[in-house]
Order: sequence, then structure tokens, then C-alpha cells
Amino acid sequence: MYNILDFSLDELKKWMTDTGESSFRAKQVMDWLYKNQIWDFDNMKNIPQNTRQLLKKNFYISIPQLVKTYESERKDTFKYLYKYDDGNIIETVVMKYNRGNSICVSTQVGCNMGCRFCASTIGGMVRNLSSGEILAQVLACQKQIGEKISNIVLMGSGEPLDNYDNVLKFIKIVNSQYCLNIGQRHITLSTCGIVPKIKKLAEEKMQITLAISLHAAEDTLRTTMMPIANKYSIDEIMESCRYYINKTGRRISFEYALVQGVNDSDRCALKLVHLLKEMLCHVNLIPVNKIKENGFKQSSKNNIENFLRILSKHGIETTIRKEMGSDIDAACGQLRRSYLDSKKNRERV
Ligand code: SAH
Repeated sequence: MYNILDFSLDELKKWMTDTGESSFRAKQVMDWLYKNQIWDFDNMKNIPQNTRQLLKKNFYISIPQLVKTYESERKDTFKYLYKYDDGNIIETVVMKYNRGNSICVSTQVGCNMGCRFCASTIGGMVRNLSSGEILAQVLACQKQIGEKISNIVLMGSGEPLDNYDNVLKFIKIVNSQYCLNIGQRHITLSTCGIVPKIKKLAEEKMQITLAISLHAAEDTLRTTMMPIANKYSIDEIMESCRYYINKTGRRISFEYALVQGVNDSDRCALKLVHLLKEMLCHVNLIPVNKIKENGFKQSSKNNIENFLRILSKHGIETTIRKEMGSDIDAACGQLRRSYLDSKKNRERV
């Protein structure tokens, strides 16, 4: 049995012809799935009975089950906990902006990267999500909010470049006309900086935005926050970013989570200026979200604004990420964590 959401149109066409069906049935099935939001073969009315039976014998349509919803007070951020067929739980966030709805999808159950400030990585990585399982988060959320999603960020749990093939396939499918037709420029992939995979991604020459979770401009400091920094130096990351820019012409986005007393000094800001001053880029400052498992504290408002001032003064385009949904633990992996913790506690009682 296959999850039909893992199939591209071409793959389904091939399957149809290989099984003696007409290849145009593939497009009809895709239309039901993506244009009509019908996730039951029996309701695909223009597909003949015997083809439906054949589909049912060989495919399932894996839409995760919604187990919990959190809604921010301002009703602009929604966080959903979804359960896949094997019982694994992931979280997906929807943010409503004036310019459209944005979704933050998870790419793995858990994460292996070990960033010290991140809740997603606490239990390690359980498994990769398939392209169809990532896509199903978008499908389920669209149905849930009754509106279209126009932007996708791959910034939920998991390291997208550690699940390269499935993530690439997801981007290609969700971008296709037969699927949700979400433009590549409306898709952002965020990575902690896996250098060989950044280069590989550059070769795809896609128009997506690459976001690098930098968080420190010096290796010595970065290694204390992110174990991956022991493997790839900042110099190597910068070199791969220049390569990416050369190949794609796309501006890179650098994420910098500000932690009180760790990476938010004037000196840190000037180091960052020095690192990025020649680069086609944008810096996104993120007031770090406190998670209960570590001692990382959010920088003061003053420090955040001061950091922004230094970068801007030196001509580096910088924004402070609007904090949405911090009242519902909307930062990376926090919900899944607290859900698993409370489940454990309930089981212990
Ligand atoms: N693994 C990828 C994508 C998932 S994390 C990556 O590292 O980019 C998405 C972003 O959230 C990253 O920039 C990550 O560093 C950041 N992040 C994780 N925990 C956070 C927290 N507690 N507060 C603020 N940002 C956090």
C-alpha cells in the first residue's frame, strides 16, 4: 500500500499506465485530492467503480488526525497537533497575516540537531516525514481554517536538509499547478547549516528563500548553542551561502535568536555586521522563546532594539520577528513536548 499523497502526477500517471488504466485518471484523482479536498476514493465521482476499487486496494490517503488545537488570544495564530497513522505526533502552526495565511510545517518527528534552545530536539529524531505527510499538514490546515494557505515556511520540528529528498519532493509537488500551486517565492526553507546540502540545494536553482539559523557570528559561541557548529564552521556556511546566491540570485535570510547575556551584546552585533556586510541578505532577529527545559532567557527589549540599531546603521537589512502565538507556546516543538509530557504524567498517575 502506498500513501497517494507521496505520488507526483507523473508517478501516478505511470502507475495508471503500468496497471492498464488510462493515464488521464491520474489528473482526475489529483483534482479530487487538491482542488476539491476529497480524501476518500469512494467520493471521486468521475472515476469508474473498478478503478476506484483498484485505487483502494493499492493506496491510502494519509491525512493526520487533529488531536489538539491552540488559538492565540489575538486569534492570529493557530497551533495544531496532528497524529499520523503510526501514532506519531507533530505540530503545525498557521499564522494569519493581512497578506495571506502562512503555515509552518514540520519535516521530521523530533530532530537530531540538538540545538540547546530548541524544544523539538529534546527527545531526538524519531523518523523522517514523507513528502506526502508534510503536504498533508497543509491540506489539513486549509480545511481546518476554511481558507487557502499562501505561504509555507519549513520551520517546524525537524531539520529539512536532514530529510533532503522528501523535503525537495514536497516543495516540487506543492508548487505544482495540479497540486496547491504555491509559488516557490512563497516558500522558505530554514536550516541550521548543513553545508553540503546547501550546495546541493543551490544546484536545484529554485526560487525558494533559504533561511540560515545562524544565532552567533563566531564559531566558539555558536558551538555552545548548536552542536552542528562543531561539524561546519561559519566560514564554510558563508561560502555555501555565496554559492547559493550565485546559483539562484536569491537573497538569503539569516535568523538570529537573541538570548540574554549570550549573543546579544554590541560586540556580537558588530561581529555579525562584519560577517554579513558584503552579502545579499536579510537578518531576522528572533526574541528567543523561553522553554522550560533550558535556562535561555529572552533578551531585553532594549538589547533587541540596540542590536537592530547596530545592524541597520551598518546597512544590513534587519527586522525583528513579530512574536505571534508565544502565549500558546508556538515556538518549535514546545507543544508536542508539553503534550507528550502531560501524556506521560497522565500515564504515571
Ligand atoms: N532545523 C531548522 C528548522 C526548524 S527550527 C533550523 O534550524 O533552521 C526553526 C527556527 O526556530 C530556527 O531558526 C531555530 O533556531 C529557531 N528556534 C528554535 N527554538 C527556538 C526558541 N526557543 N526560540 C526562538 N527560536 C527558536
